[in-house]
Amino acid sequence: MVDNSHPLSKEIYSKLDEIVAKLKSFGHVTNKSLLLQLVDEEDMKEEALNLHSEKLAIAFGLISTSPSQPIRIVKNLLVCGDCHTVAKLISKLYDREILLRDRYRFHHFSGGNCSCMDYWRRRELGRIGFEEFNSNLLK
Ligand SMILES: [Zn+2]
Ligand SMILES: [Zn+2]
Repeated sequence: MVDNSHPLSKEIYSKLDEIVAKLKSFGHVTNKSLLLQLVDEEDMKEEALNLHSEKLAIAFGLISTSPSQPIRIVKNLLVCGDCHTVAKLISKLYDREILLRDRYRFHHFSGGNCSCMDYWRRRELGRIGFEEFNSNLLK
């Protein structure tokens, strides 16, 4: 998945390092358990979590677009909980809007919040059943 031939890849990775360090200093801890809903890998490492395509795309967006432009990302799968949290934090720390379209819904991150109101998290906590979750996705 990682394309090292990208002419900007070095810059993207150093930006990503900067982002990760910045998030850590703000108390963000990579949450491995949230990943399990999507990634069924026993030996999930924090580095792997940091390399999710959304995060690379956000890092790329930060270095390739002007500060007034929103960062646009399209993902074929559901965004994972960690990327969702990271996107929210970046929208606040870097004062950038992030528009992310995942498989089922549209996320508009701005000022540390997301337009989906953390919908995935409610499912995570089991407050709603899976079927209700699915039917709500279509609204
Ligand atoms: Zn992710
Ligand atoms: Zn969202």
